[in-house]
Amino acid sequence: MATKIEIRKQTSGGSETMLDGAAITIVFLGLVLAAVSGLMFPFGGAAAVGLILLNTAIAYYLFRALADVIRLLKKSNGMPYSGKVASGPVIPVFKCSDCNAILRSGLKCDSCGAEIEF
Ligand SMILES: [Zn+2]
Repeated sequence: MATKIEIRKQTSGGSETMLDGAAITIVFLGLVLAAVSGLMFPFGGAAAVGLILLNTAIAYYLFRALADVIRLLKKSNGMPYSGKVASGPVIPVFKCSDCNAILRSGLKCDSCGAEIEF
């Protein structure tokens, strides 16, 4: 018979969820406003549309970054948080067992010249 093991506490609310929602809302409103501006001012509105899209992108990334900061703060303090902490792909980094230098190649150490076994 198995037992359940708690990995972490998770919540569905919190300010990080609100910031994620605000980011999506800002993108939606920015696209609508850019489309309306482009249709209303077809000749002189290109700069306005570009600025609206730029501001939308900046606001989106700022709000998402704020949500991640809140998640990281809650995670580091053991508090429940919603969503996932954003991270890029995890790439393993290897070091040489002889000289502890970071390996750039999988065949040979650039620092001490030792051949790397598989
Ligand atoms: Zn080495």
